[in-house]
This record gives sequence, structure tokens and C-alpha cells, in this order.
Amino acid sequence: MSNRHFTDILKLMKQSRLFTKTLKEAPKDEISNNAKLLVRAGFVDKLAAGIYSFLPLGFLVLKKIENIIREEMKAIDGQEILMPALHPKENWARTGRWENFDALYKLEGKEDKEYALGATHEEIIVPLSKKFISSYKDLPLYLFQIQDKFRDELRAKSGLLRGREFIMKDLYSFHPDEKDLDDYYEKAKEAYFKIFERCGLGEKTYLTLATGGTFSKYSHEFQTASEAGEDIIYVCSECKLAINKEIKNKTPACPDCGGKDFREQKAIEVGNIFKLGTKYAEPFDLKYKDENGRENLVVMGCYGIGLGRVMGAIVEVCHDENGIIWPKQVTPFQTHLLALGQETEKEAESLYQKLTGDGIEVLYDDRDASPGEKFADADLIGIPTRLVVSEKALGKDSVEIKKRGEKEIQLIKLSDLKNLTDFISSPAKDSK
Ligand code: ATP
Ligand code: MG
Repeated sequence: MSNRHFTDILKLMKQSRLFTKTLKEAPKDEISNNAKLLVRAGFVDKLAAGIYSFLPLGFLVLKKIENIIREEMKAIDGQEILMPALHPKENWARTGRWENFDALYKLEGKEDKEYALGATHEEIIVPLSKKFISSYKDLPLYLFQIQDKFRDELRAKSGLLRGREFIMKDLYSFHPDEKDLDDYYEKAKEAYFKIFERCGLGEKTYLTLATGGTFSKYSHEFQTASEAGEDIIYVCSECKLAINKEIKNKTPACPDCGGKDFREQKAIEVGNIFKLGTKYAEPFDLKYKDENGRENLVVMGCYGIGLGRVMGAIVEVCHDENGIIWPKQVTPFQTHLLALGQETEKEAESLYQKLTGDGIEVLYDDRDASPGEKFADADLIGIPTRLVVSEKALGKDSVEIKKRGEKEIQLIKLSDLKNLTDFISSPAKDSK
């Protein structure tokens, strides 16, 4: 998808018109780095513990993450749907999870009708798919959605990492047998690696073995190394496979390479893939007829990613004492253009027009504010390249250009638009 699509989401790119303003101090009730920075910089706003609004800057980041995930899900043949968040009690009673799903929000409607707010969607997608699956010819099938989930989380102190309402991509796969599920599961694993790589978390995200339930020995989590994480993983020094704390005692040696040397690491579970087997096909009697006309239960897998959690994890991993340092692929804008002093306004405006005309996403700081304020806000917001139009630089017919997280400032001639756009589009050095 072209960059232009995203700038269209937010037509106003002049900071004087931006809905949000930065805050000098982080709100006292935010403990986590991701929430402190995202709230201060105006990406999100907290309504209550674990409940956040996405504001224009945050919405742009969210849409970029969403788009990366959507592309990779379509690449493994996922068909996108959107299921309701309001679920009748009966669906959840059928699997026993009305009683057993601890974090389920329950509510009462009129005439004694009871409902759950969707915490996950097996209870909905299985009866839904039953309406269309009858023969082996209908399988395999892969359905996903990007949708709000609700969970009454006990601890909601980690900002976007743990919401009571949060956006999840959940894909469900339907197979005639285990072998077919196993093959697809490996494809999904690869797609997940690509997603985290593209979100700028590749280097720090480990495939992690976790408990698998009754159907398979392991499930797999994608864990991003960070002190902000609530999980503890053990990373094999030989092959980089990690093992979740829950199963570490039962797994003294690395199941992949036999290595026995592990590094303990706090981590954020950004994604999770799971072989469900026939766990949900059974209660809903989801069956298909095979080539011989015999009926079999459908075998399933499920694959989740929390979009807000990914955004929070990116901020936890990519920041310094001055603010956020967005990876190139998920930054709200590609470049932050600062006009210093009223004398520079005309040149800055003209550069802004040229760059946006060239398809570059520019946040243009046209505010009547001091240079110090503009620099501090640019660092806080964290757009990966910063352009400064100052009188000094204009004296050399140039603009100052710098990467966020680096010190070096270069001058590029205003007439050399190609050099400028190349610099903006070039990959940022690893920020941390
Ligand atoms: P956790 O152990 O962190 O509570 P989970 O095992 O309950 O996670 P799943 O039910 O597998 O998570 O959900 C799939 C994905 O959704 C997780 O990998 C995570 O990225 C995201 N997720 C789960 N719970 C939350 C939450 N409360 N807030 C934000 N994202 C979440
Ligand atoms: Mg949970």
C-alpha cells in the first residue's frame, strides 16, 4: 500500500491544527513507559485503567500495524470478516467457558437475556463456520478479523500492554486432519515472524514454547524482550528458541538443539499461536464429510496478536530519555518538518508542499513556538527523521536534517529534493 493512503487518513498535517498537544509531565497514574510516553506525546488518552482512546497520531500508528498484519494474514490465505463483540450467553455456556473464563465480562439485557462481551471468538466462529462447512471440499479454511476484545483483567497497569478493551487480530484455521493443521501452523509461524520484523520488533522477538493444552505438546508465543514484560522466558544461547517459565522446569534442554545454556529474560507476549485440535469442534459438533462419506470433526488452530500491545511493545523497546523513536514502518509520519522563526515560514511551507507532493508523509510544525519547544516535541513524538528550516540553513539554501536517536546533523540543499526524499526513506539505524 502506498504511503499516500495513510496521509489521507489524516488530512491535516500542520501541527498548529493537530487535535492533540504534548504534555510536559506524564500523568501521575501512569506507571509504564509506553503509557507515559504515548499519553505525553498525544498518541493515546486514558479513559480508565486499561481503556484507551487512539488519537490522530496513535491512530496512524495503529493503522500501519493493522495493515502489516492484514497483509501477512492475506498472504497465508486468510479471509477477513468482522464478528460481533456482543455474544449471547448460550454460546459461552456451550463450551463451559461462561463459568470458566475468568476475565469474561457478563451483562444482562432486557427480559433476563444474558450476554458476554467477546473476550475471544471461538464460541462465535465455530457455530458460524458450521453453517458453511459440510464437506472435505470446504476445507481448509482460514478466517480472521481485527476487532475489539474485552477482558476483565486484574492487572491493568501496563498501559497499552494490558487493556480491558483491546484490539486483537484473531485468525482461526479449519482443517480436515492434524497433518493439514501442522503444515498451516508452520506457515502461520513464518507470517508472525514477518509481522514482528516489519513492525521493528524482529531482533528482540523470540519464538517461545508454552503449554499446549490437551491436543499438542506445545503452543507458541512470540515474546519481545523487555523489562516492561510480565512474562519470563529462557532464551537458548545456541539457537535462540525460548521457553516460557511455565514449562521451563519440565524442559531442561532445548527441544530444538539440545542446548542447556539459557538466558533468563523478561518479555512481552505480543502474539500467540495454538493448535486447538477438536476442542471447540466437539461442543458445537462441527463436522465434515470426507471422500468416503464418513463424518469427522474439524481440526482447528487459532492465532492471535494484540495490536495495542504491539504498539506498546514498540514504544517500550524503541525510546530514549527524550521520547519515542518510531521504527520506519509504523511511524505516524515519515518526517517531522520544523520551521524555526517566522522568517522561515515561506520556505518551510514550500518544502512541505513539495515533499507531500512527492508522496512523503510530513508532520509540519508550523506553530508559533520556540525552537526549544519544537525540538523537545519532535524528540518526544519520535518521528524518525527531522527537517529543520532555520535562517542559518536557509543562508546556505539548505535544510538541516537529522535522524531521531542520532546526533549527526547534515545539510541538504533545498533544491536537491531527490537527496532529501532518499534520506527520509532510507532505513534508520538501529535505535537501541
Ligand atoms: P496474557 O497471558 O498476556 O494475558 P493471553 O494468553 O491471555 O495473554 P491470548 O488470549 O492468547 O493472550 O490473546 C492473543 C494475543 O492478544 C496475545 O498474544 C496478546 O498479544 C494480546 N492480548 C491478550 N490479552 C491482552 C490484553 N489484556 N491487552 C492487550 N493485548 C492483549
Ligand atoms: Mg490473558
